[in-house]
Amino acid sequence: MNKQEAIDKLLNGEMKLYQVDREFSPEEATNIRREFLEKKYSIDLVNISNYTLDMEKASKRNIENSIGVLQLPMGIAGPLKINGQYCKREVFVPLATSEGALVASINRGASTITASGGVNTIVTSDFMTRAPVIKTNSASDALLIKQWFVDNFTDLKELAESTTSHGKLLKIDPILIVGSYVYPRFVYSTGDSMGMNMVTIATEKILDKLAQESDAKHIALSGNVCVDKKPAAINVVEGRGKSVVADILIPKEIVNKKLKTTAEAIVEVNITKNLIGSAAAGSMAFNAHYANMVAAIFLATGQDAAHVVEGSLGITTAENRDGDLYFSVNLPDLPIATVGGGTSLEVANEGLNILGVAGSGKAREFAEIVAGTVLAGELSLIGALAAGHLARAHQELGRG
Ligand code: NAP
Repeated sequence: MNKQEAIDKLLNGEMKLYQVDREFSPEEATNIRREFLEKKYSIDLVNISNYTLDMEKASKRNIENSIGVLQLPMGIAGPLKINGQYCKREVFVPLATSEGALVASINRGASTITASGGVNTIVTSDFMTRAPVIKTNSASDALLIKQWFVDNFTDLKELAESTTSHGKLLKIDPILIVGSYVYPRFVYSTGDSMGMNMVTIATEKILDKLAQESDAKHIALSGNVCVDKKPAAINVVEGRGKSVVADILIPKEIVNKKLKTTAEAIVEVNITKNLIGSAAAGSMAFNAHYANMVAAIFLATGQDAAHVVEGSLGITTAENRDGDLYFSVNLPDLPIATVGGGTSLEVANEGLNILGVAGSGKAREFAEIVAGTVLAGELSLIGALAAGHLARAHQELGRG
């Protein structure tokens, strides 16, 4: 079959999109699917067709039914000085976004931070979770299954860890019972990978053992107590992915000079907006816009974009200390990776290289950089609101 015949078959419905891969190389199949769309809708997809990444490699791990590549503008903010446990240096942060004014705002925050001596960062916990749902006949049977997990922990740990050289089962906690259903939350350390595939494979092995030893049936490998890609209190309280805190004391003169406002005004905005306003709305995120910084870094470094919903959670605090500003961001739920998933895509790898965190041994350092960048963006926006010049900044930078 030649290329034109394949496009015709797609157009008349004789061939399905995924069947093109059986006849052609990943790159040819990509072109054929895209040209099918161009013909079907009489449109031009010239920009989607322009890319440098290795489609053969990507089609094995990252994409199905490929038609090309998405381009987004990428900027940098910095230098951002970080005084962390793992990151102790200045960085320039790559940010992919289409939201005008965002990079400029983060850059202003970074400049304020660096002029103040740097942002302090700590990683308070580091694990990934998977919680299947298991069906039994009654609540008392469910309790027996819960006890089985507790009694067999050592064996189950060994079994799970036989599937991976980096993953470690740390605990099974909590093990929730709802009627006849059991939801054990498996908690793993996953090295420098985000770990969702890793912990899914390891947990499957445990469920195979459960099936051999009991009548309980697992209904779904994820029973939504994990909680993956949804905002959830359990992730806020217990943590998921990296839990990171960043804080800083900004001298009064720098608050005045760089942010054109005062610690007192920033504290008032933080209390009324991030704390009271969020509480009044029943929000789970007591912050102004963590998602903006998290999304832009995630896109620039090949993270799983759907995890922005988790990275958006957290509380911002601000204190007036005799005119100086104490400011912190708290990110309990930041699933990130410097290995695996989308991080091996060429552009993502370049983004990680700008930060010096590509590959093994770098995930916690990367987590601290994300938290420092979130603080920069949060500080800048709250500062702008406090100074009352948010509208002017958007007019100048966003709509020019
Ligand atoms: P992965 O790319 O499937 O696995 C990471 C791999 O890296 C493992 O095979 C691990 O080997 C290896 N590795 C090498 N050096 C490592 C190091 N220093 N630290 C840790 N691992 C190292 O990635 P993943 O993080 O498990 O999963 C990420 C992917 O899951 C993303 O593509 C995401 O979109 C997807 N995802 C899946 C689900 C799901 O339910 N399955 C849900 C959400 C997202 P060993 O295992 O042998 O140690």
